[in-house]
Amino acid sequence: MSLERKIWSEQFTEWFSEMLLKAEIADFRYPLKGCGVWMPYGFKLRKHILDIMRRLLDETGHQEVLFPLLIPEDLLAKEAVHIKSFFEECFWVTRGGSTEFDVKYALRPTSETAITPMVKLWVRSHADLPLKLYQVVSVFRYETKATRPLIRVREVTTFKEAHTFHRSYEDAARQVEEGVEIYKKFFDEICVPYLISQRPEWDKFAGAVYTYAFDTISPDGRSLQIGTVHHLGTNFTKAFDFTYETREGKREYPHSTSYGISERVVAAVMMVHGDDRGLVLPPNIAPIQVIVIPIPYKGVEEVVNEEAKKIVEELKAASIRAEADLREDVTPGSKYYDWEIKGVPIRVEVGPRDVERKEITLVRRDTLERTVIPRDKLVDGVKELMEKLQNDLRERAWKWLREHVHRTDSIEEARKLIDNRQGVVEVMWCGEEECGFRIEEGISGRVLGMPIDTKEEPKGNCIVCGKPAKQVIRIARAF
Ligand SMILES: [Zn+2]
Repeated sequence: MSLERKIWSEQFTEWFSEMLLKAEIADFRYPLKGCGVWMPYGFKLRKHILDIMRRLLDETGHQEVLFPLLIPEDLLAKEAVHIKSFFEECFWVTRGGSTEFDVKYALRPTSETAITPMVKLWVRSHADLPLKLYQVVSVFRYETKATRPLIRVREVTTFKEAHTFHRSYEDAARQVEEGVEIYKKFFDEICVPYLISQRPEWDKFAGAVYTYAFDTISPDGRSLQIGTVHHLGTNFTKAFDFTYETREGKREYPHSTSYGISERVVAAVMMVHGDDRGLVLPPNIAPIQVIVIPIPYKGVEEVVNEEAKKIVEELKAASIRAEADLREDVTPGSKYYDWEIKGVPIRVEVGPRDVERKEITLVRRDTLERTVIPRDKLVDGVKELMEKLQNDLRERAWKWLREHVHRTDSIEEARKLIDNRQGVVEVMWCGEEECGFRIEEGISGRVLGMPIDTKEEPKGNCIVCGKPAKQVIRIARAF
């Protein structure tokens, strides 16, 4: 049983901005539109999430690097489609002190055009390929639409971008599959459910041959893009005249890929598990996994406080992130309330009776269910409950996502489902762009693209023109 989720779903936007501050994740009152501050608790959550991503990339032969923030305009302009799409979105540095630059510099919007010319200097022959790099950096986008904390920002502070280079188109295509597998593992570990779709031609990454995207669904039924994987073909290597020597001694252009995630994954964790009381964090990424709260009665304050400290020490010794809330003049009830907002997965209550009976009371954040275990089973009991909670969160979120993917053969029905915040709708499509645009108009939403996670053959006719369908496509109102 999960708790009340009325405010969470019906006033999701308000819930989200309120929780960012109340749970001390991020503060967007900084006096610059679309730029926010990670607060200590939020920064730890972000760090645990990034640790998982770094581990998954390192395990699969990716190497971490760090490229400059500034990209000279002539580099950024090398790939024609890329610059056309990004030019208006860039912040430009045009002056040093009072000296106007001859060439202006973009604050990187993404790094293909910074990385490709440098990799060109490092790769000589087929023996140097594949090369798999990544960095975690800030990128900048001059968003003109309304900005939204963690979701639509001007400084994207948590841009993990991987860039890989390969001998052939097929090798790069296999790398795209590996990228998808890495992201699946990543989202499974942070308990965020997803749909994987191939973006339509008009919505792929500027400079890509094709783009796969991960979307999740927000409590108010909108889709949120949380990761993308692009096959770039030779579009960027050709633009930089980057060739390598093949086994046969010929010169060929390497094929490249890129794939990224951003702080939207933190937003996704907050949104998929939350409830009316606040956040509910998966134990593996929670900054504090166990909060210990003494329940003092007159005369035994010292006893329960000492016991709370001892419990924290034992948990810490077992590598569990535990803290005791020993604030005086704050009632246990107010302490519960504070830590529930922050989404701490497990609360340990220590009352005089628990001490006397050599027992311990555990309360899980997602259901507020209580269990009493023997005091000497503390570490095992906590570990077991954390694992259970982690799995339950993942399953519950997946169930919710599946319930919010619908199938229909009428535009009106699709529109109604989307207006009623019912999530993502799948329809049949002939593959013609014009029909695609008419679907987007009809639902005033976005085509997310063709499912690649359900490999399904299309049946029936295009929802717009009635010709035989070539694809199933997903549509949604997107963030
Ligand atoms: Zn059609």
